[in-house]
Amino acid sequence: MSDTLLSTLSARASGRCELCGADAGLAAYLVPPVAAPDADRALLACAACRAQLDGDTPLAPAHWNGLREAVWSEVPAVQVVAWRLLTRLSGEAWAQELLEQVYLDDDALAWARAGLDAAAPAEGEADAPVLDSNGAVLVDGDAVTLIKDLDVKGANFTAKRGTLVKGIRLTDDPALVEGRVNGIAIYLKTAFLKKAI
Ligand SMILES: [Zn+2]
Repeated sequence: MSDTLLSTLSARASGRCELCGADAGLAAYLVPPVAAPDADRALLACAACRAQLDGDTPLAPAHWNGLREAVWSEVPAVQVVAWRLLTRLSGEAWAQELLEQVYLDDDALAWARAGLDAAAPAEGEADAPVLDSNGAVLVDGDAVTLIKDLDVKGANFTAKRGTLVKGIRLTDDPALVEGRVNGIAIYLKTAFLKKAI
């Protein structure tokens, strides 16, 4: 079945990566969310493109010049993936400019957004490691100590410098983690924390 998919995609793509034009290391990339291996929901992509799409390697803006063409593809799967990549690269002026020009119909846009939401959390973690006041990386479950007295708003107490907070949890904001002090879950600024070993 996958052989059929690959040959269908290869014929459509004239044996080139549908995102960057490379002609080596090609395989089918199933566009998430994946229901079934279907050529309409897949594209032909080289190993470098697939590694970045899957998050195995970070997005390298310089790799994605081909999106300038791909985003105008008549193949919806290619257009959708190009749009998602441009959105993730929208910190780059050229990507932002393309996004403003390109038009996706309602179905394609809904599809494009569905995949983007699924990809977003992992990307956030990869882009912004959470660091303590010394630059040590913090992860869920770490223990930290406070490096200054912190007034806990609304709870009417001061968390003292040197207080050990076990089992912290990361939040959407890399500048804040969640932890329990005096049995109360509070947000702590990472700038005032030191990782405990
Ligand atoms: Zn490629």
